[in-house]
Amino acid sequence: MNPLTIVIVGGVAGGASAATRARRMNEHAEIVLFEKDDYVSFANCGLPYHIGEEIPDRADLLVATPDLLRKRFRLDVRVAQEVVAIDRDAKEVEVKRRDTGEVYRQGYDKLILAPGASPLVPPMSGTEAKNVLTLRNLADTDKIKSFVDHESTRRAVVVGAGFIGLEMVEQLIHRGVATSLVELRPQVLPLMDPEMASPLEDELLHDGVELHLGVSVTSIDLDDDGLAMGVELSDGRRIEADMVILGIGVRPNIGLAEESGLEIGASGAIATNAWMQTSDPDIYAVGDAVEYVYGPTALPTRIALAGPANRAGRLAGEHAATGSGPSSHPVLGTSIVRVFGVTAALTGVTESLAARLDLPCRSATIVGKHHAGYYPGAEAMTLKLTFDPEDGKVVGAQVVGGSGVDKRIDVIATAMHFGGTVRDLSGLDLAYAPPYGSAKDPIHIAAFVACNELDGLAPLCSPSASLRGKAVLDVRTEQEVENAPLAGVDEVIHIPLDELRERLGELDRSKPLVVTCGVGARGHIATRILKQHGFDVQNLSGGATVRARAWSGD
Ligand code: FAD
Repeated sequence: MNPLTIVIVGGVAGGASAATRARRMNEHAEIVLFEKDDYVSFANCGLPYHIGEEIPDRADLLVATPDLLRKRFRLDVRVAQEVVAIDRDAKEVEVKRRDTGEVYRQGYDKLILAPGASPLVPPMSGTEAKNVLTLRNLADTDKIKSFVDHESTRRAVVVGAGFIGLEMVEQLIHRGVATSLVELRPQVLPLMDPEMASPLEDELLHDGVELHLGVSVTSIDLDDDGLAMGVELSDGRRIEADMVILGIGVRPNIGLAEESGLEIGASGAIATNAWMQTSDPDIYAVGDAVEYVYGPTALPTRIALAGPANRAGRLAGEHAATGSGPSSHPVLGTSIVRVFGVTAALTGVTESLAARLDLPCRSATIVGKHHAGYYPGAEAMTLKLTFDPEDGKVVGAQVVGGSGVDKRIDVIATAMHFGGTVRDLSGLDLAYAPPYGSAKDPIHIAAFVACNELDGLAPLCSPSASLRGKAVLDVRTEQEVENAPLAGVDEVIHIPLDELRERLGELDRSKPLVVTCGVGARGHIATRILKQHGFDVQNLSGGATVRARAWSGD
């Protein structure tokens, strides 16, 4: 009997994972891995850090070479060979060799598509210039780095403030390139809620980045040699640049799947089942080209991240090699980015996304420290927990701050993976010693706040809510209020928390009251006092600190 032939299209995150798992599960299969570019299994996620010289040695980006894959896994790795068509009836792919231009056919029993995605380039003049660049692979990295290495590159414009745009800005600044960041939406990292992204904006400004938010690039100006020398913005301003980097998103590479009649999902990516099989059970698809079941909605969604691609590749490799294997789990889109000294991370839905999807949710925002406040070096973090108002199931979280953001987002993502509620989070038994955390971790505090809201013990007021015409009680000290007055209010009653019990008579019981303090902790105590004295009261989530970031004007 002929050995099983598994053909894989695309040799990086999803494709290489599929190939190596297939080999570990089936020693006898013929496994052919096609990669149209020159490299397989390189670290896409590390590319910005090589440009910024945090990863000085380019070779460190090559996680596995074709030679290693051949020797260790007996894979038939064919680089610089592009799969240009799939003949599903004959069970063959058509392959074009870059060196000779020859097109030949390769048969398969099982085919795994892992062709990734391509950077979006807006339809505007000037994008063809040599110094207008996108970042997806090593060739792009080499080009960008050669511009940055050249001393004539002093100013750059990065278009798009998503993950890649932000990472590039950070690395360009590290390399001494004056950098402007242009983003169509009025905030950076539009995947996050505005008030959770705002500390990133402060950090970018602090590190000298020129921010242009809520505007688009309308054209790219070229000099007589056809090189970009600046961009025009929709607000009429012009920014000079020696280099333009486009980081406005990616589109899934679905051409092969579409032309061979495989089902494309509503999101525009390849539809798959829980074993990553497409509408043709002998053809699998993984990575940025497919849609995954998104945990919070259970709907197929595009999620272009390395973790899901690697895991899906592994599942597809096993299923293709053995005919069975574990099914995939819903994906939460857990992601993280560092911007100089600030880290931002999210998992599941944000409040803004929940509103767009019409998902009922409530949120609790707290400001805490990454380890015990009394232990030197505690860094602030803001944690926003989003949950189902009925059963308290956690549907999302966002964390922004310094150290420890990664740990919190991963703990919450883990709880969400198992369908955890805010009550589950409030009871997590987490490791604690002063240099590492607090006996009540920021995750616990956020969960306590959420549970108190669910139980009606301390109802929350959204930090972005309109407070015009409302009775607002600020329980901070006079000095604190003077230093940082509450944003977006007509009138505020000031009664410091420690005087509240004695001064209850100054408050009108017939009116609903919103209580605030610095970050919500004293506001909570005040809320409990007032509630037990019969007031209709809400605590402003995250206090004046988060209000200052969230309130955008009535
Ligand atoms: P890829 O890894 O892109 O691999 C697809 C491969 O298929 C490509 O090499 C392509 O040349 C090849 N190919 C395409 N068509 C054909 C064909 N017809 N024939 C042969 N070969 C073909 N994700 C994170 O989770 N965290 C991060 O920090 C992060 N950072 C990133 C930074 C950058 C700069 C980039 C570009 C991406 C980053 N990502 C990150 C996203 C992550 O890299 C992708 O989600 C992941 O690589 C997707 O895997 P994939 O296998 O689908 O595609």
